[in-house]
Amino acid sequence: MNNKTLAILKPDCVKKNLIGKVITQIQSAGFKVSALKMVKLTEDSAKGFYEIHKERPFFNDLIAYMTSGPCVPIALEKENAVEDFRKLIGATDPTKAAEGTIRKLYADSIQENIVHGSDSDENAAKEILHFFSRKELLDINGF
Ligand code: ADP
Ligand code: MG
Repeated sequence: MNNKTLAILKPDCVKKNLIGKVITQIQSAGFKVSALKMVKLTEDSAKGFYEIHKERPFFNDLIAYMTSGPCVPIALEKENAVEDFRKLIGATDPTKAAEGTIRKLYADSIQENIVHGSDSDENAAKEILHFFSRKELLDINGF
């Protein structure tokens, strides 16, 4: 399946009051919102989500940032969702992100970069299930 991805509007996005603007940009790019909630990640949950980065020097700072306030995970649907969403958000480092991308427009730093996007179909499926139970997804729209 290549039509689903997980976005997270990260704590800096919520704090900067940008939820509406960023979701508008995502929907204007043709993504359908399939599931959405606001959560404050626990340390364990954030560490589990970013397990792949646990040996990186920025890991502890990343966990502190991601648990610093509420965030908004969103399951998105679109043809070619993973790749198209990565294009829409731009490079991890906003100074290297293309003009018009969400990170270029709104991000302050390589860490506080406004939004997460899955990097593969396999990770998208795992990441959606990190935030949404199978029952929730089924109850919402037969996901
Ligand atoms: P992406 O979110 O673009 O997929 P990565 O998966 O490489 O990027 O990293 C996950 C997150 O960790 C980034 O979005 C960012 O918040 C943070 N991060 C990545 N690289 C750095 C870095 N060099 N310094 C600080 N934080 C970083
Ligand atoms: Mg990544």
